[in-house]
Amino acid sequence: MKIVDIRATTVTVPLEAPLRHASGAHWGRFVRTIVEVEADNGLVGLGELGGGGESAEAAVRGLRDYLVGHDPFALEALRFAIANPTASLYNNRIQLLAAIEFACLDLVGQHLNVPVYDLLGGKIRDEVEFASYLFYRTSNADGTGEVRTPEQLVAHATALKAEHGFTVHKLKGGVFPPEFELEGYRALAAALPGDRFRYDPNGVLSVAQARRFGEAIRDLHNDYYEDPTWGLNGVRQLRDIGIPLATNTVVVNFEQLATNVRDPAVDVVLLDTTFWGGIRACVKAAAVCETFQLGVAVHSSGELGIQLATMLHLGAVLPNLSYAADAHYHHLTDDIISGGKKSYVDGAIAVPTGPGLGVRLDRDKVDEYAELYKEIGGYPYDRDPARPGWYPLVPNERWADPAIAT
Ligand SMILES: [Mg+2]
Repeated sequence: MKIVDIRATTVTVPLEAPLRHASGAHWGRFVRTIVEVEADNGLVGLGELGGGGESAEAAVRGLRDYLVGHDPFALEALRFAIANPTASLYNNRIQLLAAIEFACLDLVGQHLNVPVYDLLGGKIRDEVEFASYLFYRTSNADGTGEVRTPEQLVAHATALKAEHGFTVHKLKGGVFPPEFELEGYRALAAALPGDRFRYDPNGVLSVAQARRFGEAIRDLHNDYYEDPTWGLNGVRQLRDIGIPLATNTVVVNFEQLATNVRDPAVDVVLLDTTFWGGIRACVKAAAVCETFQLGVAVHSSGELGIQLATMLHLGAVLPNLSYAADAHYHHLTDDIISGGKKSYVDGAIAVPTGPGLGVRLDRDKVDEYAELYKEIGGYPYDRDPARPGWYPLVPNERWADPAIAT
């Protein structure tokens, strides 16, 4: 089998409401680039890349000369061919490598008529449990969807639990003053007794703020405290707080993982199939974590159905997956895979069992959402519509006003 062509299509898929976070917002939609890698036997492998537009499509197309003629089975060679770790281009290409790796695994799986999890050692679970991913939200144009007050937050979590069966809840914070978000987090824990919780301010708290917040939630049923402040050296100062510390920002490659083993800062590494450069890199990182008794979970960087499939295959094969995965997925209104959005049952999603990644494109949906991207574009995709002109600082000194309805 040889690669003969690569295609990239940027799509934008609407969210139920704009999601606010520490560095801005997902402004009512996700922008993703769908990658298709075609082989000489007519099979097409699927990948997905965060963000999009002409530059993303051009970056994918720019790999064409590297990849035409390449055997999709040769995955280690692929890593060095397009993201040699000693080359300065490595960091720029790691997410492209991930998208191409997804597609090559999909091609190999289809060619052999086996699911990707069988290429990764075989599944040890049939479904992957997910946390609800709770965001503060601004309202839609029709006034619906706002999540701001503790009461709205509890109502939102309760509705998601009723609909999808979540028993673990993650609050994405870093939007409002920490004492206001503390009120919301504690309200969630009070309203959902027996469930587990995690708080993630995306690293925008100072060490002192993060310590105060951590000490104020220590009595709750916390899975972990995620990126409470920025930097390995900042997070390391919080190791005595008494809550496991997790990250998807300061341990996202093997160098940082080695540093964290030699001089521990975090207890739980949130593995992202895109940030780490593919599903296989995450499996390797999980083995290092297993060796050094670090926890692992599956991170979400905002997925459509192709990336979700990579998260499900990863979650299926990790023996040391002791935490529920994260997904933004339930915030989407639709998906570009055939059969439409996947469903949660009791807070979990079934691992696809078809050949390869086990998902195929719904071409009409791809066309529809590629057209929508052309209409509305990408800017200002990551800015908070409730705060015109605002941009993030670390530590954040300019919180959103919790008294202002959005
Ligand atoms: Mg995070």
